[in-house]
Amino acid sequence: MAKCPYCDKSMPSIKAETISIKSAPRTSWRGIAYCCPYCNAALSVTIDQISLKSDTVGEVLRGLGKG
Ligand SMILES: [Zn+2]
Repeated sequence: MAKCPYCDKSMPSIKAETISIKSAPRTSWRGIAYCCPYCNAALSVTIDQISLKSDTVGEVLRGLGKG
């Protein structure tokens, strides 16, 4: 079973939280932080693939004048 490197507890599952990823004052993406369910340490962060897909479709439709 996976173990948290911070609190050393075995994790039967992992907690996902939404988080904003910022690279510049006005640039941000919707992300997901994978956290330990016991001590809440962020173990990994990734871009939210589902939001990225819907944002991309929305921008394409807006670019085509259909959004
Ligand atoms: Zn932990």
